[in-house]
Amino acid sequence: MPKALLLENIHPFASENLRQHGFEVVTTKGAMDEDELIDALEGVDLLGVRSKTNVTAKVMEARPDLTAVGCFSIGTNQVDLEYAGAHGIAVFNAPYSNTRSVVELVISDIIALMRRLPAHSHHVRSGIWDKSASGSHEVRGKTLGIIGYGNIGSQVSVLAEALGMHVIFYDIEEKLALGNAERAVSLEDLLEKSDAVTLHVDGRKSNTNFFGEAQFASMKQGSVFINLSRGFVADLDALKEHLDSGHIAGAAVDVYPVEPKKSGDAFHTPLSEEDNVILTPHIGGSTLEAQEAIGHFVSHKLLDYWQNGVTSLSVNLPTLNMNARRGAARIAHLHANLPGVLASVNHVLGSENINIAAQALATEDELGYVVTDVATMPSQAALDALRSLQGTIRVRVMK
Ligand code: NAD
Repeated sequence: MPKALLLENIHPFASENLRQHGFEVVTTKGAMDEDELIDALEGVDLLGVRSKTNVTAKVMEARPDLTAVGCFSIGTNQVDLEYAGAHGIAVFNAPYSNTRSVVELVISDIIALMRRLPAHSHHVRSGIWDKSASGSHEVRGKTLGIIGYGNIGSQVSVLAEALGMHVIFYDIEEKLALGNAERAVSLEDLLEKSDAVTLHVDGRKSNTNFFGEAQFASMKQGSVFINLSRGFVADLDALKEHLDSGHIAGAAVDVYPVEPKKSGDAFHTPLSEEDNVILTPHIGGSTLEAQEAIGHFVSHKLLDYWQNGVTSLSVNLPTLNMNARRGAARIAHLHANLPGVLASVNHVLGSENINIAAQALATEDELGYVVTDVATMPSQAALDALRSLQGTIRVRVMK
């Protein structure tokens, strides 16, 4: 019976899914350190972690039979991807499963800031009854400027239009404008026109301090600013100055240049005393729905790799998506990306008179991956020959 180890309180859907497909599943609530993990991985085929367990080269070296690691998270920094790829351990994550959660928080931030809800709530809590409509607006008819029109930015666009907002966006790549959204001529153009500016750029290094004094200064008088992308992208000291001067009417921030490592750690931000500001602790994607979606997505990816060798959306192996099975067995051959490996695989199979029912090859950077459906099961000698071909990293046979 194949075995899966799921750490860090992964959503129960994942363990149910794996059990239904014949796995013995061990789950834990907490994370593990290197030595604990090495012990716990004895006989384990599939490992699931969230963000707190580091799957290091030392761990994988000690457990070379591990087949795949599922990161039940968006990021994959917790796994040594290079080592895993070079040793034939597939790694999967859930890049889109919390997109809707982030988008809903952005929409609620826009409405809350434009109605000055943080300020009103603060006043009432302080015993001040202020019913003034001054500075409070409907979002209908206002212009939303989206910077970074990727997965999240483009969904914000759709929901914002449903609320009656006019959407403009700026992206460094060519992007399809959804609905009635329009591409801004430039970042400057977007900043001058927008009543609300929301950042959804990715975490590439060049985006460090992307949004600073000059960009805040270019924003429209009385507009609001929202950042749920990455903390190092926006200069919070510059934002504070523009909030203090009244130039910017409010801000919602979910991500910070330096964030505490764990819940309960002390935290300070220059925005803590501001009036119309919503500060959240990097919870843009943290909903029960997103956790469930991650449990579904990653456990399906792990199973599809285990059963069919499918690597689509793997973060470290060449993408190959050969779904329908034909013949007696499927052989997945992962190798160093050298010329002639496919021919050598076929030569080994041909020398045993094994007919190939279907075959596909994908190569990416240092790695090559060939999946072959064979009409008859190869002998042990043929499998050994495949394993000893030059450049072979791993051979898996799926019946
Ligand atoms: P994505 O890769 O789909 O989209 C990013 C877009 O930004 C791309 O279209 C890219 O071309 C564009 N871009 C990059 N640099 C740019 C720049 N300097 N100017 C203009 N456009 C630029 O990413 P996504 O899935 O939409 O995620 C967006 C951001 O949200 C990421 O930084 C991600 O880490 C963050 N995120 C935060 C949370 C949270 O909890 N707050 C949750 C999920 C994702």
